[in-house]
Amino acid sequence: MASVQIADVRKAYGSTQVIHGVDIDIDDGEFVILVGPSGCGKSTLLRMIAGLENISGGEIRIGPKVVNDVPPKERDIAMVFQNYALYPHMTVADNMAFSMKLRKAPKAEIEERVSKAAQILGLGNLLERYPRQLSGGQRQRVAMGRAIVRDPQVFLFDEPLSNLDAKLRVQMRTEIKELHQRLKTTTVYVTHDQIEAMTMADKIVVMHDGIIEQMGAPLDLYDKP
Ligand code: ADP
Ligand code: ADP
Repeated sequence: MASVQIADVRKAYGSTQVIHGVDIDIDDGEFVILVGPSGCGKSTLLRMIAGLENISGGEIRIGPKVVNDVPPKERDIAMVFQNYALYPHMTVADNMAFSMKLRKAPKAEIEERVSKAAQILGLGNLLERYPRQLSGGQRQRVAMGRAIVRDPQVFLFDEPLSNLDAKLRVQMRTEIKELHQRLKTTTVYVTHDQIEAMTMADKIVVMHDGIIEQMGAPLDLYDKP
């Protein structure tokens, strides 16, 4: 776990400024949701935390460390995408093990972490299947499994539920919250769905056109006239 500090962060694509001096302090273990309409800059901000986009100004810290110039692989983060990004030719177990294999982790440790993640996510009897043999919800669990196995300091979620049908979306909200209560990993989660934000977040950051419009606990934000 680690805190994440976003201080006066800006982003321009060419001459177009899309993030204008954003400040967010995320505590160790906090579950923060960035919410706002399409195009407001949520995904860009998340990708800057991941190191997948350069930042045009300001500073991002993960724990005590300024990560502005740290490449994605050296940031202790794991990202879950809406399109799952599973490897189609690998089994569930191999998908979950892949990043640890790349890092040349010992085989026994890989097996232990994969089996623990599978148990947490209810994937125990699906380990030998391929992604095409899974339902949407199961695929999303495998994508989360890949993130858990790495035991990162920070989880980043980019609209992870938007490809799922309404019923499964509600179920997965609960599962992701339970996962967070269990692991307490600092989480930054992007969605355009206000209900998702209300039901899942410790803190909601409402963005609009590259600025923060409101920030606070769900009840503090929406209880007021
Ligand atoms: P959101 O995730 O809230 O939908 P994005 O972060 O994807 O918003 O986009 C924020 C703004 O930045 C949008 O106006 C979008 O068109 C623009 N944008 C995103 N990526 C690029 C890019 N690679 N080049 C130019 N403009 C971009
Ligand atoms: P994995 O593939 O299990 O995510 P890797 O070790 O291949 O693990 O990931 C290396 C780095 O690449 C990660 O730290 C992350 O920042 C970034 N990354 C991981 N998955 C993706 C992805 N699907 N698209 C873009 N970047 C990614």
